[in-house]
Amino acid sequence: MEERVICKNCTASILRETANRTGGVCKPCYHFNIRSTIGETPFGRAFDLCNKLHRFYTKGDYKQELNYIWIYLVSDVLSMLGNIRCGYHDKVFLDCKSMNGTRFKLRDAEHFREWCLARLELARSKTNELNAETVEEQTDRTTLLQKVDLMQTTVELAYEILRNREIYI
Ligand SMILES: [Zn+2]
Repeated sequence: MEERVICKNCTASILRETANRTGGVCKPCYHFNIRSTIGETPFGRAFDLCNKLHRFYTKGDYKQELNYIWIYLVSDVLSMLGNIRCGYHDKVFLDCKSMNGTRFKLRDAEHFREWCLARLELARSKTNELNAETVEEQTDRTTLLQKVDLMQTTVELAYEILRNREIYI
């Protein structure tokens, strides 16, 4: 029978071995703490801004175009960054399936950066190609471009984390 102890935070029963690795807390508490710690970093703050809901005001075809760019190019990058935001840095380098169905595997921090920036650049140029005629369309296009810019900043911060393995677990 393996030795069990009590989580210092929530009193759940945990394996001694887990406690040794986490500093005495259960895995959920451990990840909650990591998430809070990362939230205080420049990367965490930038990510949380990226992750805020946006709103598109246009309807119909234009909205579809924007959503297409958002879903197929930008949200893949956001979910990659989301792994790091939650402290699951390893997940970035697992076999992944893109929103458009293609599979890919990122090798290292450099490859992660390259991959993210390429998708953001494509999102940017596709957004710029869209002809914005109404005020709503212009507003929505600007919203998307600002999101992409913010995400690029976040990718650079994430790259530093992955490269330096600052909070790597
Ligand atoms: Zn706990």
